[in-house]
This record gives sequence, structure tokens and C-alpha cells, in this order.
Amino acid sequence: MAPILYIIIPCYNEEKVLPITSPMFLEKIESLIEQGMIHAESKVLFVNDGSKDKTWEIIQQLSHTNSHFIGICQSRNRGHQNAVLAGLMEAKDKCDITISIDCDGQDDINAMDDMVREYLNGCEVVYGVRSKRDTDTFFKRFTAEGFYKLMNRLGAEVVFNHADYRLISNRVLREFENFKEVNIFLRGMIPLVGFKSTSVYYERHERMAGESHYPLSKMLALAFNGITSLSVKPLQMIMAIGFFISVLSFIGVVWSVVVSLMGNSVAGWASIVSIVCFIGGIQLVCLGVIGEYIGKIYMEVKARPRYIISERTGDIYEKDKVE
Ligand code: UDP
Ligand code: MG
Repeated sequence: MAPILYIIIPCYNEEKVLPITSPMFLEKIESLIEQGMIHAESKVLFVNDGSKDKTWEIIQQLSHTNSHFIGICQSRNRGHQNAVLAGLMEAKDKCDITISIDCDGQDDINAMDDMVREYLNGCEVVYGVRSKRDTDTFFKRFTAEGFYKLMNRLGAEVVFNHADYRLISNRVLREFENFKEVNIFLRGMIPLVGFKSTSVYYERHERMAGESHYPLSKMLALAFNGITSLSVKPLQMIMAIGFFISVLSFIGVVWSVVVSLMGNSVAGWASIVSIVCFIGGIQLVCLGVIGEYIGKIYMEVKARPRYIISERTGDIYEKDKVE
């Protein structure tokens, strides 16, 4: 039997873009059903991430116009990663495969055909990878590609140029459910689940309307969060730096003792002050990095819910109410 597909779409303040992209998602679902690749029960699941504009009203209207549209609403804004997670967990027991995609039309929805095909060929995870970034500005491209390289260097394995456009099978989702961490970075966590995976390539377009929610500051925060959530390599690097500086200063001490025994006193306090300041700076940075990990542990220990769903809309939920 053809698999039931849920397309998971996080939306935050997207009233401008939803009316443009929602018909495209519907068309895609209908064409996949027509081709017999997916089951007629397949849905487009919108996750409203505590939007402050009319996004949720639009999702509700959509769910009343077509039974393929359903939606859940988060009790407040929790960020893109948590919104996708909420959608994945909501879909987990209802479908065979999920595809998560942004709602702004930047990711080419035609890649979904290939994704489903790869699933039918036996892959459990299919990563959507951007083949070109021609439409991004030079700055965005430079920072984004630097981001992937830095992540991999620092021990967080991520697929190069893959964001959160991916197909995940139900089997992988059920295993992924056991990853209980609060600090989530999906593109680094999904590869950890394992199973057979592959990539499909697509061209990234420009946003159809509205504005990006990921300026440089948020992207840096995401990179830092990804690294410290997935790897302890920065801590190891700190130790290596500490070790290196200790060896260096030990040599310095031996040298100054030898020099003073030979009757030449070591001159210049400026060099000493600058070395002290340098080491003081390194120590502060190291404390900061360690503090970041302690902060993460603090959040994990509290184990607060990662998302809270306040409302649902769509025909599948209506049926539940009647029963
Ligand atoms: N998004 C979200 N919660 C947020 C910020 C963004 O659900 O707090 C959604 C947003 O609606 C979009 C996706 O995440 O569907 C990606 O955001 P955006 O397009 O602004 O990022 P970019 O593509 O520029 O990196
Ligand atoms: Mg976007």
C-alpha cells in the first residue's frame, strides 16, 4: 500500500507567504496521490509557532477548505527547531513518512517526488541538499557555508548544505522519540539515529514574500547551539590550549632561572603584563565555553516540555471530537 505522507511546515508570522505557498503544497500532495506514490490520507500539517499575526487564522481557514490541510498551534513562540519537532511528534502515529519544509517556498517542493521515490527504494531518511546558492547574497552564502564547515570541524556531524528539508520515515521517528534532550538541533541529531539514508539535490529559491527570521546573529546562535549540543570538542580544545600554554610558560620559567643564574636579570615588565593579560583572556573564554555547557546541563536537568500544543484544526481532529 502507498505510504501516508505528512508534510510538516513550521510557520512564524507568515501571513504574507502562506496564501501563496499553501496551494503549491496542496498541488504537490494531490499530484503525488494521483501518481499512486502516496496514500490519499496524506496531509499538509502546518505548525503555527506562536505567530503574532493572522497566520493561525489562515491555517484554520485552509483546514476548513480542504481536508488535506490540518494544523496545530503552539502555545507560544519557541523557535523553528521546536516547531518542526512538534510537527514530527504530532505526525508520528498518523503517517508512514514525514517531509519537513519551510513555508516560504525557498526549498524546491518538486524535490519531494525524488524523496518519496528514495523512500520507496528503501531509504529511511532522505536529506534535501542545496545544490546552488545563487539566489542568496554573497554574505549569506559565505556565512552559511562557513557554518557547515565550522560545525563539522568542531565535531557536530551535519550534512553539508542541508537545512531542515528532509524526509523521515515513521521507523526513524519512533527511535528519534527516545532522544529526549531539550536543546535540539535536528540536522545534527537525525544522522545520529542511523538507518539507511541518502540525499537529493535541489536549487534554493528566494523567499516568496515576507522576511527571513534568521539574521546573522540568530545564525551564529544556531551554530553555537548546534556545536555545544552535539559535541564536547570545544572542551577538549580548551584542554589542549591549556596544555600548550603550560608547556610554553614552563620553558619560559626555566629560561628566566637560567638567565638570572648567569647574572643577567630579565628586563621589561611590559612583556609580562601582556602575557598575563593574554592568558587572562584565554581563561575567560574557556570559562565561558564551560559555562555554556553547564547552562545546557541546567536546562536538560529541568527537562521542561519542548513544545506545548494549544489548539488543533482539521478534519482528522474533528472526527476525534465526535467519538
Ligand atoms: N520559523 C518558526 N519559528 C521561528 C522562526 C522561524 O517556525 O521562531 C519558521 C518560518 O516560518 C519558516 C522557517 O521557520 O517556515 C524558516 O525561517 P526563515 O525562512 O525565516 O529562515 P531562513 O530560510 O531565512 O533561514
Ligand atoms: Mg526561509
